[in-house]
Order: sequence, then C-alpha cells, then structure tokens
Amino acid sequence: MLKRKISVNETAEAKRYFDECRNAVIVTHSAPDGDAVGSSLALKEYMEKKGKKVTVIVPNLYPDFLRWMHDADKIVIFERQKSLCYNLVNYADLICCLDFNTLSRIDDLAVPVSKSKARKMLVDHHMEPDKFANLTISRPDCCSTCELVFRLLDSLGEIQNVNTYGAEDLYVGMCTDTGGFTYNSNDPDVFSIIAELLRKGINKDIIYRRLFNTYTADRFRLMGYILSEKLRYFPELHASYFCVSREELQRYHFLKGDLEGVVNIPLSIRGQKLSISLREDTEKPVVWISVRSYDDFSAREMAEKFFNGGGHFNAAGGHIDGTLDAAEEICKKALAAYSEQLKSVTREG
Ligand code: 5GP
Ligand code: MN
Repeated sequence: MLKRKISVNETAEAKRYFDECRNAVIVTHSAPDGDAVGSSLALKEYMEKKGKKVTVIVPNLYPDFLRWMHDADKIVIFERQKSLCYNLVNYADLICCLDFNTLSRIDDLAVPVSKSKARKMLVDHHMEPDKFANLTISRPDCCSTCELVFRLLDSLGEIQNVNTYGAEDLYVGMCTDTGGFTYNSNDPDVFSIIAELLRKGINKDIIYRRLFNTYTADRFRLMGYILSEKLRYFPELHASYFCVSREELQRYHFLKGDLEGVVNIPLSIRGQKLSISLREDTEKPVVWISVRSYDDFSAREMAEKFFNGGGHFNAAGGHIDGTLDAAEEICKKALAAYSEQLKSVTREG
C-alpha cells in the first residue's frame, strides 16, 4: 500500500540487529520534541513485544505536554542520572539513534554513545547524516522520524504487532513535526499511515488536544505578550523576529516547552515568509534561536550560516553564545544578508 522507501538490504540488516540484540538503548536529541519522544517510545513498544530489554535515554527533559504518553515516565534523563545512563549504554548491545543526524545533537550523552562497542542504528529524517552508525536509515523526504519508524515496521512485516500505545506514539511525532499536518505532509502515504493508526484505536482529536491545547494561563499570556509587545515585523521583507529575555520568561514562570510553536504564529500574517525567535536561556549565557519559513526560502541555510545550527529546509534552529543583544544584532545581519531575496519573494498561498 505504501511506496516502498526502505530497501530490502536495510530491512534485512535492521531485522538482524533487532533479532540479535538483548539489551537495547534508544537515544534521541537534546530538547526532545514530539517526534523524538514518539519515535523512541514506539520503537521501545515494538522491541519489548519482541522480548527485548529496552531503555529510552534523552539528554534532558522532554516538554510537559508529552507527559501523558504511555511509558513517558520510564524515560531516563541523562542530565539527571548520568551514572545510570553510562551503565545502560555500556551494557547495551544495540543503540538505536532516533531523530538526529549528528552526535553533537545529543550533548554529553555522545561521550558514552561514541565509546560504546554496541551496534548502532540511526533512523532519522534530517539531511546529510554523519557516518557514526553501523546502519544508517536516513529519509529526509519523510515528514518525521515517526513516519520512518512506521515504514520500517511495515517493511519488516510487523505492523500487526503495533498496539494502540505504539500507534499513539507514532501519531504524536507525525502530528507535531507537521504542525498538525499543516506543512511538510503532502504525501498521500502520510494519510494512509494515519488511517492505519486510526484502525489501531488512536483518538486523533484527543491527541491533538493533549499536544496543542494544554497551555497554562502563564504560557498563554506569555504568548500574547510576545505577539503584542515583542514582535518586530518588517512587511517589506515578509519577515519578523522576536527576542525574549530571561527576565521576561521568569515574569511568566517559563517552563520548558512554553515557547514551542510560538515561532510559527507570525507565519499566519498574510504574505509572511520568515519568522525567527530568539530566547535567552534561563541559566546559561546562551540564546536559543528558531527559524521557520515558507516555500523556497531556506530556514536551514540561515540557521547554518548565522546561528551555528541547522535543521530542515523550512524549520531550523541554532544558538548564539552571548547576550540577547548580541544575538539580536546577528539576527539583524541575517535579515540584511537575505533582504533582496526576502523582498522579492511572494508567497504561494
Ligand atoms: P526548533 O526550532 O524547534 O528548536 O528546531 C527546529 C528544527 O531544527 C528541528 O528539526 C531541529 O532538529 C533542528 N535544529 C534545532 N537546533 C539545531 C541545531 O543546533 N543544529 C541542527 N543541526 N539542527 C537544529
Ligand atoms: Mn523530527
């Protein structure tokens, strides 16, 4: 039913890795999002059904709105339990690396992972993965790592072994990485997969509500404050950015994930092609940057050239070590560097 995207060789190799392992660890990227957590928990669900011992390790805490997910409470957080994580990684005979393409994305968890003698399998949808795994299954044309995990299970002939929890996990990543199927999800296969997940008993309406409609009042007001007071909008450039300081975040009792998705909102302005957010870290002298774009303007290129980052063509991120003011200056330089391109573009739709 689906276009075949995983080759016979990759499928056979993945099957061998799964069959031959006993103790697996699944790792995913820092600041784990819905796709990172969803794909990791789905793969854990599947492998446990095959009788394997599996632990999901994340570099740091995942956002609150994912806490309802089945077995989210069993995820081990490297930052909090380093020695346990070292032991788990050292003892593992298979390390599955999900939703990242370079070891720097897992922070210091990269130390035990790169030292480990275990087989490594990378399953990811970011472009140009580094060659650190024994088996690399990379499909940048997939909307999410969750879509790719579904395709892998499909190629393995294992979809009948996906239960409702696994289906929920996969839906979460597909839904969050596409903004609720509003971008990067024009492939009819995406909807064939959703149909299959619905047959597994998921309730997509309730999942959507749990993912997107669970703001605290503080988070809601912070969003309103940013949009009303902080947005710097440049109509001639079809672009905007906003900066949020530590003090402002503290005023609204900022919790991890509270700004998730806010960078997308200015793209709702008619004609807008580019949105950038700059958030000061609440502890370290670092500014976290998110870049979102429409159509042919590359968010990724801007993140790579100006913000020490990368990501997808239309959704990328990075960071600047230094003050918020310094980061804002770099942001202005980035806008200036692309001003001709930004001025000339008209948006499709
Ligand atoms: P976000 O803006 O939600 O943090 O990230 C958007 C996308 O950019 C995600 O797919 C994420 O993987 C990617 N991304 C964010 N920060 C970085 C970074 O520092 N380096 C790279 N290579 N990708 C990043
Ligand atoms: Mn992803």
